[in-house]
Amino acid sequence: MPSLDLNALPLKNILKQPENLPTLPGIVLKIIEAVNNENTNLEDLGEILSLDPPLSGKILGLINSSFYALPVEITSVSHAVKLLGFNTVKKVALSFSLLKLARPGKDDFNYVEFWRNSVMAAVVCRFLAKKVLPPLAEDSFTLGLLHDIGRLGLNQSMPKQYNLVLKEQRDTQGDFYEAEKKILGFTHMELSGILIKQWGLPLFFREPAESHHLPEVLETFAYPMGLLGKVLFLANQVVEYFSGSRKTLSLGILKSYLARWGFDQQIHVDTLIEEAHRQTKEISGLFEIRLKEENEYLELIEKARQELIQISDLILQEMLVQQNRVKSLQDEVMQDGLTGLFNYKSFHYFLTREYDRAKRYQTPLTLIIADIDYFKSVNDTFGHSAGDKVLQAISQQFNNSLRNSDIVARHGGEEFGILLTNTSFPESLAVVERLRQSIENLEVKYEGRVVKVTMSFGVAWLQLESDLSQEQWVKRADQAMYEAKCRGRNRICVDTCSPTGSWPQAAAGRS
Ligand code: GH3
Ligand code: MG
Ligand code: MG
Repeated sequence: MPSLDLNALPLKNILKQPENLPTLPGIVLKIIEAVNNENTNLEDLGEILSLDPPLSGKILGLINSSFYALPVEITSVSHAVKLLGFNTVKKVALSFSLLKLARPGKDDFNYVEFWRNSVMAAVVCRFLAKKVLPPLAEDSFTLGLLHDIGRLGLNQSMPKQYNLVLKEQRDTQGDFYEAEKKILGFTHMELSGILIKQWGLPLFFREPAESHHLPEVLETFAYPMGLLGKVLFLANQVVEYFSGSRKTLSLGILKSYLARWGFDQQIHVDTLIEEAHRQTKEISGLFEIRLKEENEYLELIEKARQELIQISDLILQEMLVQQNRVKSLQDEVMQDGLTGLFNYKSFHYFLTREYDRAKRYQTPLTLIIADIDYFKSVNDTFGHSAGDKVLQAISQQFNNSLRNSDIVARHGGEEFGILLTNTSFPESLAVVERLRQSIENLEVKYEGRVVKVTMSFGVAWLQLESDLSQEQWVKRADQAMYEAKCRGRNRICVDTCSPTGSWPQAAAGRS
């Protein structure tokens, strides 16, 4: 089976110039209309761009480029747009529109359906992630939007062969990726992964995109890749339900995977289908706009060109100002909105930095993963806002109890990550026990009632002589936390990460 040959000339062109991916005329019209309207703000422009997979990729690629040198990857278009500023975004959108316009009807590729499906996948991913992976809800939207971009890339770079793929799919009524595998020897999933990497997006985007039709592979991924992958797979089934011919089959797959992955308590198929329809019905008209005559096409290009001439003088100056502004916004990029702690992405940046430092300077490093016990019942009993207040109170408690040199982050919905730098084993244990007790004693007042919670802590103490990889080390902390849950919660389990590979030991704090 031939694998994806990156040196094949047409593919190379797409990879070198991802701007060669086309944009739909309806979107270009909308952009031109928006930039001509003096009431348009950045948010409006961002919203239009996030309906277009190639434009979104381009904007994210720019903000993640070395020019801005951000310490963490930006993964949502609205965020990227805020950082880049109006003129830069306008320029990117317009210049991109000049390059390539999708011409629905010119070949067998169904552009309108591709756009509609990408946006629907994005919307459903965000809806699902809000339930099962709230900190990454906006990231999930982007992942949904971009996961299939490889299909567009393949059609663009090898139209003749891709026409055969489309024919094969029509004849067999099977999956696109099966037809691609048969005709091309590789699938759009691989090209999606490559483009996503090229746009500077993180591994937790690339891996789910590379396996989004393969649930058995997604199940083997670590957190949060696995969860994002499952979200994406389910979103694909919803899209398939709306656009495919095998509705009953898609519904069956959807139901059985929701149950298999334990999402069926929180998510009902009917709601999912309704939401997908509700959130996409207004925008789909935008994708239908077709250009009938060649001169309509040229007119559109000319309009974009005129706009571009007007802003090009401003652009260099603005980009330099933006570069500084982006630097000053770094804090915001790295924080979690609800708690003000570092977010998942920045925590992983610190993990790598501190892990490398500990190895280089031979200093000990402790990783703590802490998860609230039975947090779901807090939400169920007192309501979601009470839950949010608890998350904020815990964050404040952690901040007050730790040294400035320690790093504390919201690692997942109700899970926290803490890094204790340069701390001996006994000291680390004392710190964690102090944290555990302080949470046990914490009283969060909400609407005249008192909410109390406990937490389970997993500790992985990286010894100097340990040859554990960063990934293994994080996994050890995770396993230790899980062990603390199994042993009854409100306690600490410790893995000393010794070279012999010890299993987590229960430490202090038995309740
Ligand atoms: P366990 O002791 O096994 O950890 O039980 P749990 O109930 O804490 O764990 P589970 O994973 O079943 O539920 C976690 C809950 O955390 C479900 C989810 O709604 C809630 N959660 C996640 N993020 C947020 C948030 O930002 N705000 C609120 N209020 N709740 C959240
Ligand atoms: Mg796909
Ligand atoms: Mg929990």
